[in-house]
Amino acid sequence: LEKDSILRKKYGIHISGHNIPSPLESFGELSSRYGCKSYLLCNLQERGFKEPTPIQRQAIPVLLSGRECFACAPTGSGKTLAFLCPILMKIKPGSKDGVKAVILCPTRELAAQTTRECKKLVKGRKFYIKLMTKELSRCGNFDKMPCDILISTPLRLDFAMRKRKLDLSRVEYLVLDESDKLFELGFVEQIDSVVKACANPSIIRSLFSATLPDTVEELARSIMHDAVRVIVGRKNS
Ligand code: ADP
Ligand code: MG
Repeated sequence: LEKDSILRKKYGIHISGHNIPSPLESFGELSSRYGCKSYLLCNLQERGFKEPTPIQRQAIPVLLSGRECFACAPTGSGKTLAFLCPILMKIKPGSKDGVKAVILCPTRELAAQTTRECKKLVKGRKFYIKLMTKELSRCGNFDKMPCDILISTPLRLDFAMRKRKLDLSRVEYLVLDESDKLFELGFVEQIDSVVKACANPSIIRSLFSATLPDTVEELARSIMHDAVRVIVGRKNS
């Protein structure tokens, strides 16, 4: 569509892939186009987020339409919300039948920060959001613990899967945040075991990062189906 490409040009959004949904003109479109509940729009407003950032404009509709994606945009450009928003809109909160979304972060600090952001966005809703602490990975009883969204480093998640029999077979969304760092830091083996454990055939996987090295994209393409690529700014800036 003409209108879509004008918007993309305006915001420096570059895409590749077929049938890519229109970018968002406003957060309001989340409700008009995708039935977003009002609590989330309220919480966005409360956080002071008036307009979606460029990566949010395109990556959110891509994930909401059930497509896997590589999203690449500079540091500080709002990538966290770009993956949290679709997850919060799509998963059923408060379920007792296992983890519905997994977010992998390269560092414990980033995992903690992402958890805090997520908790602010669900204010007023009964979502179970869990940060994989050392304690939890060592002694957590995941069978008894309701958990909708689990945020972890690859090492802790891999440990919990092996030692605590954490079941990821019902995960609907898997996010690799700062995926360039995840691979750089040598977590390939742990990521691989997480990807395998998330065996739900309709899982939606996404990679978010500030750079998208060819090696990372090649590695990821081998596991993703029909992924869309969304780049804001330059691919390797
Ligand atoms: P990135 O992961 O791309 O480095 P973050 O997701 O950490 O960026 O976001 C950077 C900052 O921008 C955070 O403080 C976040 O709260 C803020 N932010 C995110 N989305 C918006 C928005 N739509 N409007 C204003 N600020 C935003
Ligand atoms: Mg980030």
